[in-house]
Amino acid sequence: MRAIISREPTGPDGLFAVDLPDPVPTKRQVLVRVRACGVCRRDVLVSRTAGRRGLHDPLVLGHEIAGDVVGLGPEARGFAIGDRVASTQREYVCGCCTKCRTDRETLCADLRFLGQQAMGGYAELVLVNDDNLAVLPPEIDYVQGAIVGCPVGTAFNAVCDTGGLRPSERILITGMGGLGSHAVQIARATGGYVIASTRTPAKEAMLREIGAHVVIVAEDGKFSAGVRAATQGEGVDIVVDTVGGAIFNEVRKSVTFGGRIVLVGDVTDTKVELTIAGIYRRGLELRSAVSTSRRQLRNALRLVADGKVRPLVDRTMPLAEAAAAHRMVEANAVAGRIVLVP
Ligand SMILES: [Zn+2]
Ligand SMILES: [Zn+2]
Repeated sequence: MRAIISREPTGPDGLFAVDLPDPVPTKRQVLVRVRACGVCRRDVLVSRTAGRRGLHDPLVLGHEIAGDVVGLGPEARGFAIGDRVASTQREYVCGCCTKCRTDRETLCADLRFLGQQAMGGYAELVLVNDDNLAVLPPEIDYVQGAIVGCPVGTAFNAVCDTGGLRPSERILITGMGGLGSHAVQIARATGGYVIASTRTPAKEAMLREIGAHVVIVAEDGKFSAGVRAATQGEGVDIVVDTVGGAIFNEVRKSVTFGGRIVLVGDVTDTKVELTIAGIYRRGLELRSAVSTSRRQLRNALRLVADGKVRPLVDRTMPLAEAAAAHRMVEANAVAGRIVLVP
């Protein structure tokens, strides 16, 4: 099969197109012919990870996969040849640890993430264990289906499951990349009063169009005064923060007494100084949403199939142009996902 491998930790310059042997499914593995694979910031970060400890060799990136079932291991269940499928972000979870048995398999100690510990979807074929796939509803095409598992499913996790958003609650979503823009749609569909913050004035109209009641454009990253103004001085009930340390103090100042702060990634790599009193005295909760469980993938597929959430795809590009796609993501030159098509 043709595949793109990340040979050296030098980002786009380290990506090469090669021929690899076709993978053969064993045990509960399903062989999927990749029809579409999203380019995630996580792939971009992994492609620059020095040392490469724990990463699969050869390293084929890509965990946002949709395709067709073309082969089944002898113990694979629930799928037939020809099924259209979408992946969670993982190739394997153990299925029997406490986390796996309580809907928290995204924290399974034995998990293998696609494109990290297992070969991913920047290839014509990929192996995924049966319990990390879902059938793609007929309303959803491969390109949109590829990105339901990561940005849409993780946004669902953050807003609905971890955040516990209830109708009429006020929710602030920070950072309008893939996670943030889908979180806006999910929060609106759930009945929340949705405030979106972005540094980019050009995104304002789009954010209103996809469901934000209020858009705060703060090019200097200081959005908390705007959030207070939009909530009669109170602050929001929930923040879903997709940005990280650099804005944590603005996040903290934006939330009301007893509010929840949902952390869903850190793209800033910035240390935070905080006083426990500033959290405890105001009754704040710090929660974390880590990727997408199988149930959350099915929940997200339902929302997309019903037209309540639209996966935001910037463009498709041929698999062979993966390096160019990575350069565009690194330059922040895309609105929505780039999806590679083998
Ligand atoms: Zn992703
Ligand atoms: Zn497990």
